[in-house]
Amino acid sequence: MEDNRPMGVYVHIPFCTKKCDYCDFVSFSMDDTAKQQYLEALCNEIEFYKYKFADRVFDSLYIGGGTPSLVTPEFIKTLTQKLYSSLHFADYTEITLEVNPASFTRQKFLEYVRCGINRISVGVQSIDEKLLNKIGRKQKFEDVKYTLQLFTQSKFLNTSADVMLGIPGQSKESVKDTVEFLIKNDLKHISVYTLQVEKHTPLYDKFRAKKIKPMSDARMVSYYNEVAKVLMSAGYVRYELSNFARPGFESVHNQKYWDESEYLGLGIAAHSYIDGYRYSNTRRMDRYIDLCSKMQSPVEQKEYISDKERRTERIMLSLRTQDGLDLQKFKADFKEDLLLTRANEIATMQKNNQIEVVNGFLRITPNSFSVSNAIITELL
Ligand code: SF4
Repeated sequence: MEDNRPMGVYVHIPFCTKKCDYCDFVSFSMDDTAKQQYLEALCNEIEFYKYKFADRVFDSLYIGGGTPSLVTPEFIKTLTQKLYSSLHFADYTEITLEVNPASFTRQKFLEYVRCGINRISVGVQSIDEKLLNKIGRKQKFEDVKYTLQLFTQSKFLNTSADVMLGIPGQSKESVKDTVEFLIKNDLKHISVYTLQVEKHTPLYDKFRAKKIKPMSDARMVSYYNEVAKVLMSAGYVRYELSNFARPGFESVHNQKYWDESEYLGLGIAAHSYIDGYRYSNTRRMDRYIDLCSKMQSPVEQKEYISDKERRTERIMLSLRTQDGLDLQKFKADFKEDLLLTRANEIATMQKNNQIEVVNGFLRITPNSFSVSNAIITELL
């Protein structure tokens, strides 16, 4: 079925000065010439899609990475101008740029605002720099402080920060200090993630060699509950398991991934979701630049998302949100009444006060959010 809802755009900027020990994103250190070549390739890729999406409206643009604040403001200016002149962005578009405190300056901030950036997302993770150093993230508390001060001094309206749970050696007080510091600095949106130990990363090797001990799941759950308590008592709304926002500051872009909206991914290793297909761009920089310079598509994989997969994703993603799963829509889309097909599981979880049905939506109760994975598994 044709989807006429506004689309989102994600642009991947794959540059970092040094790889963090836990990172499995496509990111690397590159010189200025390579960055310039990448920018040209990106502009060609945008040109490639200009006509395909001529009749579509976009209402979110997310420039992520890597470290987008590592490229020059001119890079961001050229990129955004190319996007604005090629795709139809609504006046109210949410335009986010991810920044790393180590490469963020007042000058860059002013330039970003001039480029139309209206939301900044900063990778804080923790205000304890010693803790971050342990997992190979070289970040100074002074830089974080400076970045957040810039936001408050300029009364910049929309700001977001990431917080990481599960860093080896992290205490509950340390997590609390980080979150309270962000609240004090009036961050409008806070994302709370757990440290994922991916294979083929230096952190994984350290865990295997028993040089560092991973945090237990039970401890991580108790940290998550503490963070949620602190944020919600300060007036933040948990609109998704990992995402908290001041009312009205929920991320437009994030919601596209949860409500199956279509989005276009630009850049190396970027993904798109269009017409029921998921597309993945090449992960190789030389190939990306070569294909784009010939005005050829850098898509390397195209996969149709079957109804069975969509059903699974719908349950998994909607139940992570505060609103929950729209049961009528689910029935219409998948010809399945979940209240009947999962009657026993739902009855048991209702009895345990883990799940509830409110105005036609099935949702996890606030007290059970921290065990949502187990609840969702029961319903798949
Ligand atoms: S800053 Fe982010 S993208 Fe860059 S290496 Fe660290 S985790 Fe990876």
